[in-house]
Amino acid sequence: MYSDNVVFIDGNNPYRFSINKKTFYVLIKNVHESGDGRENQDECRIQIANTRNFNDALNSKTEVIVLGYFADEKVFTAWNPYLMRDRFNQKQTISLYSRFSVQLQAAISKIATYRDTNGQSVISFLPDYLGLYLENLKNIHLLDNSELVALVNESDLLNANNSDGFADFPEGHLTITHTRYKRDPRFKSIVYEAYNNKCAMCSIGLELIEAAHIVPHSHEKGTDEIGNGISLCALHHTAYDRSLIYFDTDFNILINTTKMEYLEKVGLDSGFRKFQALAFDKIQLPANHTLRPNVENINLANQARGIN
Ligand SMILES: [Zn+2]
Repeated sequence: MYSDNVVFIDGNNPYRFSINKKTFYVLIKNVHESGDGRENQDECRIQIANTRNFNDALNSKTEVIVLGYFADEKVFTAWNPYLMRDRFNQKQTISLYSRFSVQLQAAISKIATYRDTNGQSVISFLPDYLGLYLENLKNIHLLDNSELVALVNESDLLNANNSDGFADFPEGHLTITHTRYKRDPRFKSIVYEAYNNKCAMCSIGLELIEAAHIVPHSHEKGTDEIGNGISLCALHHTAYDRSLIYFDTDFNILINTTKMEYLEKVGLDSGFRKFQALAFDKIQLPANHTLRPNVENINLANQARGIN
């Protein structure tokens, strides 16, 4: 397993671990129901006090991770450590929230995530994947649920290939199947035509355009109707799917500031000015009203992408 590479060094909560020569402090707390007053029965949390031990860790040059442990399902939950650090500058004790249902899902599918009300991704995973989590710390909280599952599957496959023999795969190979929703083959050409073969955010054509779904295709309401389509260049399509950029129901093009602040914190914000200068203020809409994005889809899409 991946976590074979994780080596315990010393410490008493926070513990010091190393993986591939990189050292981390890891504070582990049991996950509990979040109190009698809670409105959501699915909500659980850990509370962390800024003890001397913990404070020393925070002030060291070593990365500090906080994990919740849910004993019923034997699952870890991780919160974005870069954002947590800021909160400790303001308060002595903080609560970090999770969902029982997400932990249960992780016990079944090895890893699961959801976005909290601040748009932050909270990730639950089996202890086997602690190494995977630590190794990908810089960007793992940017991944959505299907990307995380893919990451875990990839690492499992790698481990299987690296292990001695193929005890688990007697025939020496395994078949991966995944469910695909039915697609309308005309979706692309209808979207391209409606938007004159140009990106609706920057008007670049150059064979760089793609037919993007407003409500993601993986979502149950992510249809192939023109009201759920928009033509975007490859850059804006990816940026839109990663919630970096979005548009509101007045078709204003907006940067997701929460996401940008996060990228700045983890040092992944290079080129921001260039990126910002590339987009117009408003979506370039099809002249024909019936081909324009559906308002309900815009709202649903922004919700699905963690934008409130
Ligand atoms: Zn574009």
